[in-house]
Amino acid sequence: MGTPFRVLAELCERLERTSKRNLMVEMVANLLENLDHDEVEPAVSMILGRAFPRWDSRVLEVGWITLTTIIQRLTKTNWEVFNNAFAKTGDVGSAVKAVFEASKIYRQATLLEKPLTILEVRRSFEGIAEASGIRSRERRERMVEALLSVATPLEAKYLVKILIGEMRTGFYEGLMELAIAKTFHVPLEDVRKACMMMGDIGEVSALLKLRGKEALAHVGFTIFRPVKLMMAQTAKTVKEAIIEHGGKTAFEYKLDGARIQIHKSGGEVKIFSRRLTDVTQSLPEIVELIQREVKAENVILEGEVIAVDDQGNPLPFQHLMRRFKRIHKIEETRGKIPIKFFLFDILYRNGQSLIHKPYMERRKILGETVDEIRLTAQIVTGDVEVAEEFLKQGLSNGHEGLMAKRLNGDYTLGVRGKKWLKVKPVLEPLDLVIVAAEYGYGRRHNWLSDYYLAARDAETDKFHVIGKTFKGLTDKEIMEMTERLKKLVIKEEHRRVIVIPKIVVEVLYNEIQKSPKYESKMALRFARISRIREDKTPEEASTIQKVREIYEKQFQRRGKITKEFVNHDVKPRRSPA
Ligand code: AMP
Repeated sequence: MGTPFRVLAELCERLERTSKRNLMVEMVANLLENLDHDEVEPAVSMILGRAFPRWDSRVLEVGWITLTTIIQRLTKTNWEVFNNAFAKTGDVGSAVKAVFEASKIYRQATLLEKPLTILEVRRSFEGIAEASGIRSRERRERMVEALLSVATPLEAKYLVKILIGEMRTGFYEGLMELAIAKTFHVPLEDVRKACMMMGDIGEVSALLKLRGKEALAHVGFTIFRPVKLMMAQTAKTVKEAIIEHGGKTAFEYKLDGARIQIHKSGGEVKIFSRRLTDVTQSLPEIVELIQREVKAENVILEGEVIAVDDQGNPLPFQHLMRRFKRIHKIEETRGKIPIKFFLFDILYRNGQSLIHKPYMERRKILGETVDEIRLTAQIVTGDVEVAEEFLKQGLSNGHEGLMAKRLNGDYTLGVRGKKWLKVKPVLEPLDLVIVAAEYGYGRRHNWLSDYYLAARDAETDKFHVIGKTFKGLTDKEIMEMTERLKKLVIKEEHRRVIVIPKIVVEVLYNEIQKSPKYESKMALRFARISRIREDKTPEEASTIQKVREIYEKQFQRRGKITKEFVNHDVKPRRSPA
């Protein structure tokens, strides 16, 4: 008959209530042991809040507004119930549960139904995701409604959490790896390696369930299944990178774009993002380029795609993101947001894994495999001055910095090691004032944990918001901050409070972007608080004039024409874009 979805929902409920990691792992392992092999991957995905395996390109596309309409129609309950429950818990799923509990109509209906199973839920998700063509939106809504109409309040809570991608039980992927290692009696390291190779933890557990632990030894690359990519640590200077890599290293330009892995088999090409989602449709010109230029039958390649202006100059990262969001109107954005593409690694070719080969050899193979596609600019040197010059050249060409790659380094899937080191000039931290704050979600729903950060206008003395962050403070600091902010409240707006600008924090960020979000028309990218500046008054905070200056400096750098790259071991190549 299949395992009821109720069992999974009850498990998630218990996970949410505890923070004891061992206990959580034990509970999940118990469930996995008792599932059929075809239930394992769906269950693992759903416990992690995903409707499908990670590499799967299908998405549910059900917005919160649509969901509220459906839930209201189904339960015929006063929406106040939702609002009150949400204010109390800060959790959408729990608030939906409260609405279902308050609804009498629904109770009668579910008493008659047979229990919903894990596989039925998966099939429903597939139906919802696959609905296409005319009236697909209505069909999707009807399917969501049908699914929720047979759910108990607890099941509805978790269905909604999966539908909107907000699981928040505290059971993250690292704990799932532990649970799988425990369930199938395999070393954690082997589970991790298999996950990197197969690109999805649910698939690994399904394989273990079906074939047993011996199967892990044979896990290799599978074309069209994205793998977890190698990552870099930071070096402060090019000198540090050279020393770390034993006196000589390969420097490449570090491009500020999106990392992609490309899988090709015969004439078919798929492209995956850094988060392993399928972005093939967003990048048709790269698909065409690979089809045209790569002769190898099967390959997995890696590179960076950047947005450029009509002169070919690199544009900030946010422009590229617009391209990824416009999946449906891609032909339109194709002209408006032109891209350039650079390759920097090859992991697999014609049935052979290349990840154990040293960097220099992989780079050579890459050059031979993709004759007419540009590789990232590269030099091999042990000379600090030469490296510094190369860094300067990269920055003046509008790039972010350099990547240093150890010459004999193998490719370590999913590992942030020292074989790759990024060298980026750091932007100076800003001292900003907290002018408003919001209550957080889940565990943080009673704390003011999300802060609006403002710079002072030296001319008018007003504060202008330039960013928002919930990152950087410890739980203890957030609790203390909540108490301090509560004493400064001027106005309450639902879950947001406006406060007297008093508290100054030091903020790190990756970039200052142009943004319509705030009146200042600027926004910090990846803002995080590095410390609380008890020693500073708001009058001493960074000024908006200063922020504008830093913002403009970024563009001076980016404004220059990207010249043909110097490539010491690879001949200059034609631009693909
Ligand atoms: P970060 O995101 O700051 O940790 O830096 C690592 C990222 O730099 C990678 O994930 C790539 O997206 C990007 N990147 C840009 N240029 C290169 C390059 N030449 N080699 C490797 N990664 C690069």
